[in-house]
Amino acid sequence: MEAGTHVAPPHRRDELAKIFQGWPTAVQNLIQALDPETTNRLEIADIDPLERLVRGRIALLGDSAHATTPTLGQGGCQAIEDAEVLTRYLHTTNISVPDALNRYEKARQDRTAELVLKARKRTSTIYGHEPSATQQWYQDLKQEPPETVINALAKVILAGPLG
Ligand SMILES: Cc1cc2nc3c(=O)[nH]c(=O)nc-3n(C[C@H](O)[C@H](O)[C@H](O)COP(=O)(O)OP(=O)(O)OC[C@H]3O[C@@H](n4cnc5c(N)ncnc54)[C@H](O)[C@@H]3O)c2cc1C
Repeated sequence: MEAGTHVAPPHRRDELAKIFQGWPTAVQNLIQALDPETTNRLEIADIDPLERLVRGRIALLGDSAHATTPTLGQGGCQAIEDAEVLTRYLHTTNISVPDALNRYEKARQDRTAELVLKARKRTSTIYGHEPSATQQWYQDLKQEPPETVINALAKVILAGPLG
């Protein structure tokens, strides 16, 4: 969709029903169970990886540090990893808070930047910039055994600090 399209809350369930017309009954039931007045309708955006996550005694984490598109399902996961790593350095430092924050930044910057850019790359496939590529992606997904999806998720997690 074009940026800036607006659908008022009372019409959001109808819009979804129209978009997902022809999908299995479970999907239709889910849509009908929604309360359109409390259904968020969000534009998807990310930000370029930041040059710094830390200045002095101030650190960014979670979306404020690396807002990403939801195409890898990693935004919340990365916020949890940030919190774990930050806590670990703050607990173990005997130097200073800024030193712990700098270590946090070093540990997190490349990891989160890589995932933001990977998710961005996937966005054009998943959200129909090229309709044929999107169709092919959903077609492949239908055939994909569940273990392949789980293994791909596990690979992302195991490459991080909680792996
Ligand atoms: C459609 C969609 C699907 C997603 N799917 C996944 C997924 O499958 N897996 C996954 O891991 N992640 C997913 N995410 C991403 C995930 O939701 C976010 O990355 C995560 O919530 C970021 O956490 P956060 O704590 O950094 O920020 P937020 O969750 O945005 O929390 C920030 C909080 O700060 C509050 N706040 C803002 N300004 C102020 C202020 N001035 N004073 C006080 N409080 C303030 C806000 O109200 C909010 O509660 C998805 C996101 C979207 C939109």
